[in-house]
Amino acid sequence: MSNSNTPQRVKTTDLGDGVLLITLDSPPVNALGYALCGELVPLLEAAAADPAVTTVVFTGANGFFSGGADVNDFSTPPTGDTKTVRDVIETVEKSDKTFVAAFDGSALGGGFELALACDYRIATAKSRVGLPEIKLGLLPGAGGTQRLPRLIGANDALQMMLKGDMMKAPDALAKGILDEVASGDVIEAAKKYAGKPKRRISEKKAELGVANLGLFATPFVVAQAHMMVPPEENGGFAAHKLIDAVQAAIELPFERGWARELRLFMELVQSTPSAALRHVFFAERELSKVPGLPKTEPIEIKTAGVIGAGTMGTGIAIVFAEAGIPVTIIETKDEAVEKSREMIFGTFKYNVDKGRLTQEDAWKRANSISFETDYAELGDVDIVVEAVFESMPVKKDVFAKLDAATKPEAILASNTSTLDIDEIASATKRPGNVLGLHFFAPANIMKLLEVVRGKETSPQTLTTGIALGKKLRKVAVVSGNAFGFIGNRMLFEYEAQAVQLAEEGVSPARIDQVIKEKFGFAMGPFAVADLSGLDVYNFISQSQGGSPLGRILIIAKLVEQGRLGQKSGAGFFKYDKAVGKGRQAIPDPEVEQLIAQLAKEAGIPQNPNVSDEEIIARCTRPLADSGAELVRNGIALRPGDVDIVWIYGYGFPPHHGGPMWYAENEAHYTPKGGTAAAETKELTHA
Ligand code: NAD
Repeated sequence: MSNSNTPQRVKTTDLGDGVLLITLDSPPVNALGYALCGELVPLLEAAAADPAVTTVVFTGANGFFSGGADVNDFSTPPTGDTKTVRDVIETVEKSDKTFVAAFDGSALGGGFELALACDYRIATAKSRVGLPEIKLGLLPGAGGTQRLPRLIGANDALQMMLKGDMMKAPDALAKGILDEVASGDVIEAAKKYAGKPKRRISEKKAELGVANLGLFATPFVVAQAHMMVPPEENGGFAAHKLIDAVQAAIELPFERGWARELRLFMELVQSTPSAALRHVFFAERELSKVPGLPKTEPIEIKTAGVIGAGTMGTGIAIVFAEAGIPVTIIETKDEAVEKSREMIFGTFKYNVDKGRLTQEDAWKRANSISFETDYAELGDVDIVVEAVFESMPVKKDVFAKLDAATKPEAILASNTSTLDIDEIASATKRPGNVLGLHFFAPANIMKLLEVVRGKETSPQTLTTGIALGKKLRKVAVVSGNAFGFIGNRMLFEYEAQAVQLAEEGVSPARIDQVIKEKFGFAMGPFAVADLSGLDVYNFISQSQGGSPLGRILIIAKLVEQGRLGQKSGAGFFKYDKAVGKGRQAIPDPEVEQLIAQLAKEAGIPQNPNVSDEEIIARCTRPLADSGAELVRNGIALRPGDVDIVWIYGYGFPPHHGGPMWYAENEAHYTPKGGTAAAETKELTHA
């Protein structure tokens, strides 16, 4: 029986026998925003004052319990009258009633914290729980850091909150987070808890949850945790505060821990790393919005083809197989097929070893990839991704063959890193069905996918590319068709600046160390160049008229010496199979001497004593300059898209928000030419 006066975002139902059902209903995820909390608090106060009510059951509509606080609210601090998740939870805590959280869907962040404030928790098997706040540079600020350690022990709680991952209901049951996994209707199951005694987690003591370490157990566990997370100034700001909050849960009475948590949370909400991560969160949600793109239904991709079983082709085939899409790879060289098979089976075996896949699923997926030599085998596929050598004549030849062999509606995609999609499309009679799908190496691991829109790419083809990206669990960013698209175009500017610094006498090892350890990139620019292969850079600079990266031909010289990077055991750095499996960069004085000699011959002034800050500024400015230019030209749709490309494709530290966000908000640097977006948001073509 629904009360007709119930407010919009929260519905109440009298279930009889003193049980009041409160349904959170604010699509899409029943976020506990200020407005919803403002409705919830008076309802809970009324229930608390109503002697006819013994039990309150919380549930959620829309297939969710609640996704937690509204991320938008973090930018507007609550004022006097505003109600937050903390107010809701305080009202629950003060009430004499019994509270049950009963959900069929996920309880995340503040939603899970509300469930933790209840006396009993029941969920269906498909439900998940989690406290993902750390991913936004925050900590659970509505009691999560205080209640979860009291429920499952500090050690497990800390691991769960530091990772921010979701936990499936059966695992949560095993951990003691849930009281029951309901097989039937979860509300029916909840009714059984009506009138049961209150059982507030706040009244429990937080155990450490590790073997008995005696008197020093707490300091030991806390110190260990602080050591395991990144440094405060380099990506670990929230993690250290989270550990402090859990320490409070162990050492202080609940009330004081609850107050400490709020203070730490407020520090994080106002911190730069959290603002950066929230920007990334919103930028990611903007990606699929392409201004001016007519709404069309994507083509359903049921089967796929891949041309070339090299590094990329194999990785891409694995990505399709992992998404449950059978793939046919066309490869003519037997040894390439052998190597590819090894990599496919190796990858799936690794996933079984890691517990990510069952043996049976791994076997099924690995066997959904088949090898053929004849293009005629692609007659039925819905999409083909070409990953042959980076050569226009080779690619055009492949596309002409694909045009003849595939059904007319099939989409033909190229994984080219630099070549002109329009010229490739011109080899077919269906340029509307051609686009770029630029995966990053290793394709089955890197999240980024640049979806490249050619001059003739049809709205349906582009829409399908974006939808496919989602299905393949990639972060798909639309790019215009220009040399190097978004990411690599910027990479060349960045690498050129790093090389220029080296020409001025700063060692590649120091530059890499500052960029990695001080700024937080996953790798330094020279290690990246060595990983991609210096021959690739050389080839590209030759195809661009021979202009060097930087002012001298250092890369060409290194290539001449057979120093191609990691793959040849030496590039800017040395690599030794006995050190870090041949992947660890070892500084090489010979290279430094070579650079010094070339710089001297070219008369480049030396300035080896630059500060770390100057190194960071010099390397990040060209990223902002070239990123801004891409936005002005309409190659990138928004500055946020540029940020996402660099975070997901090039290891730019997310806690600095991406190169565009960093320039504007942290470095206070205005990119050359300004940041104004293209006048018309239609993509242009370079
Ligand atoms: P690769 O040399 O490892 O693989 C190319 C494969 O294609 C080889 O196995 C070759 O035998 C096969 N091949 C060549 N011509 C063929 C044809 N006509 N029919 C069938 N098979 C043919 O190269 P890769 O590194 O995988 O690069 C492939 C493409 O992906 C290139 O366009 C490259 O620019 C792009 N790409 C590479 C990377 C990377 O980091 N390696 C990243 C993104 C994009």
